[in-house]
Formats: sequence, structure tokens, C-alpha cells
Amino acid sequence: MSYRAGRHFLQIPGPSPVPDRISRAIDAAVIDHRGPDFAALGHTVLDGMKRIFKTKSPVVIYPSSGTGAWEAALSNVVKAGDHVIFYETGQFATLWKQMADRLGIVNEFISGDWRSGVDANRIEDVLRADTDQKIRAVCCVHHETSCGITSNIASVRAAIDAVGHPALLMADTISGLASVDFRHDEWGIDISVSGSQKGLMMPPGLGFNALSDRAIEAAKQGGAPRSYWDWSEMLQSNATGYFPYTPATTLLYGLKEAISMLEEEGLENVFQRHQRLADACRAAVAAWGLETVCQNPAEHSNVLTGIMMPEGVDADAVRSVILKQFDMSLGTGLGKLKGKAFRVGHLGDFNELTLMGTLSGVEMGLGLAGVPHQAGGVEAAMRVLKQTAH
Ligand code: PLP
Repeated sequence: MSYRAGRHFLQIPGPSPVPDRISRAIDAAVIDHRGPDFAALGHTVLDGMKRIFKTKSPVVIYPSSGTGAWEAALSNVVKAGDHVIFYETGQFATLWKQMADRLGIVNEFISGDWRSGVDANRIEDVLRADTDQKIRAVCCVHHETSCGITSNIASVRAAIDAVGHPALLMADTISGLASVDFRHDEWGIDISVSGSQKGLMMPPGLGFNALSDRAIEAAKQGGAPRSYWDWSEMLQSNATGYFPYTPATTLLYGLKEAISMLEEEGLENVFQRHQRLADACRAAVAAWGLETVCQNPAEHSNVLTGIMMPEGVDADAVRSVILKQFDMSLGTGLGKLKGKAFRVGHLGDFNELTLMGTLSGVEMGLGLAGVPHQAGGVEAAMRVLKQTAH
């Protein structure tokens, strides 16, 4: 393979590009994870992640992908035969539900159209019908990465409370955390699930569970047979800044740096930056005369934009042209959207000119791949950025 000049544009919706500050932080000597210096690092990241999740309760950090953190969330509080609600927002909600199937969990899968988020009224109806309160948990994806849809998690808590149902609320914010507003405590979430490779700007490899007192109590009382994922030993060790088994030390160096960077910018400013860049991206899609996957403006993702291709156009063929010609990776359509849509990631360490480079690549790619569209998307995005410059 010959050398390709310039930096590869990794515009998939995670893993997001890792900034140099984080790469440099990771590139440090591994220390003794049971030695005297480790506890300071442990406390710093464990406390820092509480601020990122906006919780006063403990956050558990696993050396795992997000899928591992899903399994941890389920296995600590539910076991085979327990009843759980999942809501079909897209491919990731479907995969989480499939995991529950494999774990023997009996689930109610509320069907969705992959173009809109959670309708809390439908969850309320299912809970209201559950008069003997068999349902142990409600699982929703806060930010559905396969479609680019943000769901209103506070409305799900309100639905659970309206029925007075004891079910725990679990939210997957693997791709939402540290890019869009997320409030573990205020929204009444019992278990929030996340991963390192999206808004945290880190390489893949860390999974998170943010807990509530009720979740910790439920884990003490029940859950599935478990060992690696068990919160109790983890919480015991974490209280002193340590981990019960070998942690991913170098990734924790990176996480410490990521938390510093997010707090230097200010979390609210991070969210506004994502909002503004996403607005500009959506302006480009509208100018091209194409549709976003998400159809409800109130639920548009500020992390990625899913773009539907016109009938008869293979979205993956367009992505291939863009990769080959411009060295830019875009997200493939997943599950039901395979071949029908592609996804532009605009998350993490991302700014105006990265967006403009990305959109220029997409617009040129649409032309080269022969996709029917109107010109002017790049200009439309530039207009938004100029109008909102500060
Ligand atoms: N949930 C969501 C919303 C995701 O975006 C992803 C990955 O992209 C996952 C779960 C699975 O995480 P992982 O691939 O890190 O196991």
C-alpha cells in the first residue's frame, strides 16, 4: 500500500478520533495497580466520572467494551426468568434485547420505527398492565447510534413513577455521554451504561455503569450468578481508589486527561459545540435535498447524522467511493438500515473545520457516486456556522 498524505478522517460515530493530549497521556509507564501511587489515579477518575454522569452515586469502570457494560448492568440486578422492558429505538436497542434473550431474561420488546425515539406513554401502558409487578427493569437507549436519535429519558422515569411501578430504569448512553446533555441523578436513572470511545474521546476499552442506591440494593438482593461483572467487590475496592482485578491502567491515564479536557472546556460548552455543529450538518443534508434518518426534530442527534439514500442507491457504495477517494470513513447503515443510510459522526474532539472537511468529502462523494442531490450543502453549513459564530 502506498503512503496517503494527510490525516485519515475518522468520521464514524465512534470510536471518535483520539486527541494528541489523550494519546500522550496513555503513552506512560504502567504503575503497580496495588502500589501506593495508584489510589490517587483511581480516586481521580472515579470521582471525575461521577461529574460527567452528573451523579453523586458510584460509577463502576470495567476494562470492557460497551457490550460488557450492558451485561454488567443486566446481570447485577436481573436473572433468567425475570421480566424486563426494552424499547426498539434501533440496532443497539435490538442488540441489548438480544443479549437479554441469551441470558434467559423474559422481555417485552416495544416495537419502534427506527426513525423516532422512545414514546414513554407506551412504556407506561405496559407497566400499568403489569398489575402483579413482574417487570424488574425498563431498558432504553438514550442515544441510538444506529439512527441518530436522542430519547427523552426523564419522560421514561415520569412514566414509571406515574404508575408507581418499582421497575428499575436503565439507560444506555454509550454514544451520548460527554457529547449531549445527560443527567443520571436528575433523570432518576438507576443504571447508566457507557463506553470510552465516543464523547470521552478515548480509544475503545473502558465500559461504565453509573449506579443509584436502589440499583446497589437490588444487586445485593438478587441479579444473576456473576463474578467478573459483580459490583459489590468493585465498590469495596473503589472506595480506597483500587480495583479488585488488574485495571486498564494506561486507559485510566487517558481517562484522567479526557475528564480534564472536558472540564476545561466546560461540559455545557461541549454540549453547545455538538449542537451547533450538528445543526450545520443537518442544514447541509436539507440543502442536498436528502432526508435524515431521525424524523422528529426534537430528537435529532447532535453526535451523528444518519442520512437516508434515495431509493435504489446503495449507501455502502457511496461510503466506499468516499473512503477510496478522500480517505474518510463514514458509519455504515446498521441492521434494518444496511445499505439504505450512512452516518456522519460529528462527536468528540471535533470543530468547525473538521465538519467542513467532512461535509466537503460527503458532497463530493455524492457527486462521484452519482447520487441524485442538489448542490449547496457545504455552503448551507457554512452559513449556519457564520450566523452562529461567537
Ligand atoms: N450501545 C450503543 C448505543 C452503541 O453505540 C454501542 C457501540 O457503538 C454499543 C451499545 C456497543 O458498544 P461496544 O461496541 O463498545 O461493545
